Amino acid sequence: MAEIIDGKAIAAAVRQDAAAEVRALVEKGIQPGLAVVIVGDDPASRIYVNNKKKACQEIGVYSEEYALPATTTQEELLQLIENLNKKKDINGILVQSPLPQGLDEKAVVENIDPQKDVDAFHAVNVGKIMIGDFQFLPCTPAGVIELLDRSGVSIEGKRCVVVGRSNIVGKPMAMLLLHRNGTVTICHSRTQNLAEVCREADILVAAVGRPKFITKDMVKPGAAVIDVGMDRDENGKLCGDVDFDAVKEIAGYITPVPGGVGPMTIAMLMKNVVCAAKIQNGLPV
Ligand code: NAP
Repeated sequence: MAEIIDGKAIAAAVRQDAAAEVRALVEKGIQPGLAVVIVGDDPASRIYVNNKKKACQEIGVYSEEYALPATTTQEELLQLIENLNKKKDINGILVQSPLPQGLDEKAVVENIDPQKDVDAFHAVNVGKIMIGDFQFLPCTPAGVIELLDRSGVSIEGKRCVVVGRSNIVGKPMAMLLLHRNGTVTICHSRTQNLAEVCREADILVAAVGRPKFITKDMVKPGAAVIDVGMDRDENGKLCGDVDFDAVKEIAGYITPVPGGVGPMTIAMLMKNVVCAAKIQNGLPV
């Protein structure tokens, strides 16, 4: 029976560490600040934004919300980004995705000052991750590494398989595992013999977006199985990409959904805001 990795508890510990860092910065006269931009009225985005604001409040980060109507033009949005880039009390800028149709998300991200890009989606930050010279890490993959570290799962020399190659999860996840000296394979929808490849993994990360896609026969006994998926099962209930009930019988470690990777994403965002405040004030990170 697998050890269940408690993402809620680990995320709380990460937030506590971030809160201590915020207190130390405030003592030096530095108040970290985050601007959250939401465009339109997507209900899931509203929940994410509220949770981010709540996390800021909890750890002592100043936050500002910019809620814009779905009719906002690209020019208006870019103007707001430019203003936030210049704003001294704002260290991090986060534009909640997805943006309404007609707005160019890529152009918006590329206009954020890389030093304020706390999602680490800007090409400059993506490039830095590629060459291993990074300050910000993308929140979800960084959260996975933190879960492994704090659960005592070593990465070095291990066979790591990442299923999914998106720019926000799969690809950066693979790079972070590689930087930690894992031997990494990335799988996607064209991968042949997927089950066979997954079965080789000591660490298996699922970022597919398909409910219960990773089944017991795809998992090596004793493997650490990390489920990034946030899906709905046939009854509309939140579940992950991994068939949790069956896989937990065979895995060594497993993350549940909810309560695994999900809470880590916001905790790592808080860490990035602290990091941004330090960088912008010439402090070591
Ligand atoms: P995405 O952009 O849709 O990417 C999905 C990836 O899965 C693609 O690379 C795709 O391959 C691959 N895939 C799809 N079907 C496959 C199959 N049959 N076999 C193998 N690979 C397959 O999704 P994403 O943004 O990375 O998100 C993935 C999941 O993570 C979603 O459930 C999302 O909700 C969740 N998520 C959670 C958090 C969190 O905070 N916990 C954050 C972000 C995302 P191709 O490239 O070949 O199409």
